[in-house]
Amino acid sequence: MPVSNLVLVLGDQLSSSLSSLKAADPGRDAVLMAEVQEEATYVRHHKKKIAFLFAAMRHFAEDLRAAGWTVDYISLDSDENSGSLSGEVERAIARHRPERVLVTEPGEWRLRAAMERWSDDLGLPVEILEDDRFLCSRAEFADWAKGRKQLRMEFFYREMRRKTGLLMEGEEPEGGRWNFDSENRKPAKADLFIPEPGRVAPDQITHAVLDLVAKRFGNHFGDLEPFWFAVTAEGAEAALERFLEVALASFGDYQDAMLEGERFLYHSVLSLYINAGLLDPLAVCRRVEAAYRAGRAPLNAAEGFIRQIIGWREYVRGIYWLKMPDYVDQNFFEATRPLPDFYWTAETDMACLKAAITQTKEEAYAHHIQRLMVTGNFALIAGIDPKEVHEWYLAVYADAYEWVEAPNTLGMSLFADGGLLGSKPYASSGNYINKMSDHCGGCAYDVKRKTGEGACPFNPLYWDFLVRNGDKLRGNPRLAQIYRTWDRMAEDKQADYRNSAAAFLKTLS
Ligand SMILES: Cc1cc2nc3c(=O)[nH]c(=O)nc-3n(C[C@H](O)[C@H](O)[C@H](O)COP(=O)(O)OP(=O)(O)OC[C@H]3O[C@@H](n4cnc5c(N)ncnc54)[C@H](O)[C@@H]3O)c2cc1C
Ligand code: SF4
Repeated sequence: MPVSNLVLVLGDQLSSSLSSLKAADPGRDAVLMAEVQEEATYVRHHKKKIAFLFAAMRHFAEDLRAAGWTVDYISLDSDENSGSLSGEVERAIARHRPERVLVTEPGEWRLRAAMERWSDDLGLPVEILEDDRFLCSRAEFADWAKGRKQLRMEFFYREMRRKTGLLMEGEEPEGGRWNFDSENRKPAKADLFIPEPGRVAPDQITHAVLDLVAKRFGNHFGDLEPFWFAVTAEGAEAALERFLEVALASFGDYQDAMLEGERFLYHSVLSLYINAGLLDPLAVCRRVEAAYRAGRAPLNAAEGFIRQIIGWREYVRGIYWLKMPDYVDQNFFEATRPLPDFYWTAETDMACLKAAITQTKEEAYAHHIQRLMVTGNFALIAGIDPKEVHEWYLAVYADAYEWVEAPNTLGMSLFADGGLLGSKPYASSGNYINKMSDHCGGCAYDVKRKTGEGACPFNPLYWDFLVRNGDKLRGNPRLAQIYRTWDRMAEDKQADYRNSAAAFLKTLS
């Protein structure tokens, strides 16, 4: 029987309150969900990421059916699977003969551009609805950005605080300040009690997906098992509850810390659930605020967490849509070095990189400071091609979608956008990593040695990066002091730095 609407639900749209579902009627309309080769392989995603999304999609389809929807679910190994979303929509149109296709806007520019052609290609209306799971629409962000010389997150974030009323006392921010970041930079000590995130045993549906992924994507990066991610809204809710209970109170204090063998510290490990739609970001923030108001977490923790979501997360999405499609091609420093092999193998003597990449391989997760100050910082100061770095981040993390990954990687971490997102590059020597972690104690390199045999590679690379890019960075007032230090350095010391960096870079393959 023909249906009125064919509702396409994408893999990161697993929310019962999705705009396309709200606009449709379970009695008259059909839902299409499809696992397709094209989406799983346009970058070679981590096995755990593919397994998480397929398993979560299959569970969501079950939930929709239980709620009365007719769901066409096309599994990857179904014989007729065409391998692409457009192919699956075309086949579903032939089956259901709908009057129109409804879809909530996708997160990636590439897919949106393709969808905008569907109406002509398929010969029926395709309505692309706004994704109201975000607080700030694309139009609203464009309005905010219009006429501003600088698009600083901090000012955007204040708007979002006012808009949501989160941590507000009337017109004023709770505690008299908008931002408590200065209190959030404690290094962690090995004797801290650090809770693990909750782990969920795979059920039958997830086991079937794990078998499929092992068979079809066995040569992709990363370990498939042990697989412990939640794959339902209830499971994600339990993960949130556990975070509120055991980790939120210390989230702020140790937000920037790293510890050998501690993969999660007090981070929430919720991004994969929020980005896939299993948790609603605003609801998560309200729960965090309630925990603060109930005295279960200090203000620096609650504010720091809420800022990441209604500030950074919304802001990077705004930047992405404002600047695409050119954003991903930017290369401010004209960096061309290929991504070193050890980003895929974790085979390096640099203990900080080894820890971050090993856990990325095993968990499809690394926390923010590992992404920014270890793998990102190294790629920045070693002059790695930003496109290759971007594709690595997009492939290896379970929470990675281009709208959030690209501005974080190309803007925040690599400064490839020339400073749209950050006021200066997050470049640092080994000193920062030594201060914030215990990696250096067990490293083959000596963090105190600045140059020569055995010196921590971050030390000469840091200066080499600044000197190599002096024409682009010397004018930056936030770097003036650092360039003055370089200029005052004896010439032979300067030469030592540059030669040590060159010798190290030669060893990269
Ligand atoms: C180079 C680089 C690449 C990144 N790629 C991604 C990515 O592909 N997907 C992704 O979700 N995040 C990305 N981030 C941001 C951040 O590292 C992750 O959101 C965070 O590590 C996820 O772990 P968590 O849930 O434990 O976060 P927590 O530390 O517990 O933070 C709480 C929540 O805040 C949000 N958040 C925190 N920081 C950011 C940020 N900078 N941008 C957007 N949201 C943020 C996330 O939803 C996260 O769950 C990237 C950061 C860098 C530096
Ligand atoms: S010495 Fe350098 S390479 Fe080794 S862990 Fe410390 S910062 Fe990393």
